[in-house]
Amino acid sequence: MATDPLQKTTPAPADAEPDAPGDLVRFDHVVKRFGDHTVLDRLDFSVQRGEHVTLIGPSGSGKTTILRLLMTLERVSDGVIWVDGQPLSHMPGPDGRLRPADEKHLRQVRKKIGMVFQQFNLFPNMKVLQNITEAPVNVLGLGREEAEQRARELLDLVGLADKVDAHPSQLSGGQQQRVAIARALAMRPEILLLDEVTSALDPELVAGVLDLLREIAHTTDITMLCVTHEMNFARDISDQVMMFDSGKVIESGAPDKIFGDPDHERTRSFLSAVL
Ligand code: ADP
Repeated sequence: MATDPLQKTTPAPADAEPDAPGDLVRFDHVVKRFGDHTVLDRLDFSVQRGEHVTLIGPSGSGKTTILRLLMTLERVSDGVIWVDGQPLSHMPGPDGRLRPADEKHLRQVRKKIGMVFQQFNLFPNMKVLQNITEAPVNVLGLGREEAEQRARELLDLVGLADKVDAHPSQLSGGQQQRVAIARALAMRPEILLLDEVTSALDPELVAGVLDLLREIAHTTDITMLCVTHEMNFARDISDQVMMFDSGKVIESGAPDKIFGDPDHERTRSFLSAVL
């Protein structure tokens, strides 16, 4: 990497505490700035192992930035992100104090995390099977045969067993997104990040992808963080819903509470606009 934006950031305090037992993800006073625009302002929240958390809120409130920070596609400006007891954004230095993470550390922690994007982001020049086996072989060091067997099982799970040899351009948007979901799961992530995964789909393809994600949510113990505007889906799969506004969680709770009896006027007005 040519530049390291973390060089300019304040190191986390030496006394930053790792997760409480059960926390798989913890944001500890996380700040993210783009230039002089503070997108996340000392954000604190935690996600328990196995929990399904949905982030809702108006466009521009910082939801996608949270997923991108977890995927290490962005770096924190201040504060610490913890994943499974390890600092994601930082690493312990020789003096025991936390310092900005280097690429090697990021690669290690990132293995625990899979992400599905709005725009699928499949490798266009690779067949479906290779899209799914590429990272397990090259990042996890799996044998090709084992990776292919797992890819076929996942393609079966997402209903595309007959598309192993297709190229992404030969698939519908819904099918491409199913491949992207299979690709994320192939890394056996502990955490699956879903960023508005149906927003780019034609309306008739949305339900199929959401049903697949419901099945994954209800039949696996994978921890999920999901940014979505599909409120019925959020209600179905979430243990916790977090309502964001201007880079802050303004309220969070069980879906029945947030969708049925929110405390904040801002949540009420947002929900009445999207429901
Ligand atoms: P949401 O997902 O809630 O719509 P985002 O996290 O995508 O919000 O964006 C939050 C804010 O951060 C927006 O104002 C957006 O313009 C800004 N932002 C996101 N990424 C960048 C970037 N790479 N450079 C500059 N500003 C950005």
